[in-house]
Amino acid sequence: MKYQFMRFPGGKAKAVTLSYDDGCREDLQFAEIISRHGFKCTFNLNGDGLKGDRAFSRETIEENFLSKGHEVAVHGYFHRAEGTLRPIEGIQDVLNCRLELEHKVGRIIRGMAYPNGGITRFSNGASYDRVKQYLTDLDIAYARSLGGDNGLFRMPTDWHNWIPTAHHDNPKLFDYIDSFLNQDLSPAHNLADRHPRLFYLWGHAFEFARNKNWDRLDEICEKLGGKDEVWYATNIEIYDYTKAYESLIYSADGKMIYNPTVTKIWFDVDGTEYTIEPGQTITLDI
Ligand SMILES: [Zn+2]
Repeated sequence: MKYQFMRFPGGKAKAVTLSYDDGCREDLQFAEIISRHGFKCTFNLNGDGLKGDRAFSRETIEENFLSKGHEVAVHGYFHRAEGTLRPIEGIQDVLNCRLELEHKVGRIIRGMAYPNGGITRFSNGASYDRVKQYLTDLDIAYARSLGGDNGLFRMPTDWHNWIPTAHHDNPKLFDYIDSFLNQDLSPAHNLADRHPRLFYLWGHAFEFARNKNWDRLDEICEKLGGKDEVWYATNIEIYDYTKAYESLIYSADGKMIYNPTVTKIWFDVDGTEYTIEPGQTITLDI
């Protein structure tokens, strides 16, 4: 055996996830369009104390987001940048947002997108290490960063600094989409570079209204949606699946593998696909 790589559910090597912020009314139109094309999105919401009568009701969130398989996540109760807050203020903004969202929708909420510049600048005693520590203590599993699209299709290496591939208005967006769809992950390809590929798109739905470019969303959906070889998933689904894969237990020679999770897991060893059911132990034929 040379290399083993995670594969997404169904044995797919590629995944697409979306992340949209601020809980604006254009989210509803956006959700309707992307749902029709099979995308899954994480909607990052603020506290009712900030949004006032523009806050989404429990029924609106259920009908437009959760019942369509989307995720709702924390975006700071008062939309304050963690990098400029004293840690106790940051803790309050994240925890209050999480508590309110969970009480409102009746689900466990573990995801987040940094608001308002997030961790791109630091003052008042904040540092990335301290922010990451309190997010971990608050059971925030991941947090999407701002500060520049990376144009890459890599899985995050630091879940509390999850850098997206591209904003939807990125001028290179359609080049990135073409490149993503053309990634060659066949066994004939370089065996060491068959990592799973992730396309992470982010933005604010109100930008489509402000820039009068809803047609751009249609084009994105046409090009990036509806692909059999792609797993369309929310941020937390990507996180949970990856953590399940990382929980596999191996014999010393790597040939016996036990799945202690409740998730069916796919992976690839030197071009051969394997699946392993929850609770199952398999022996690789290598
Ligand atoms: Zn925001």
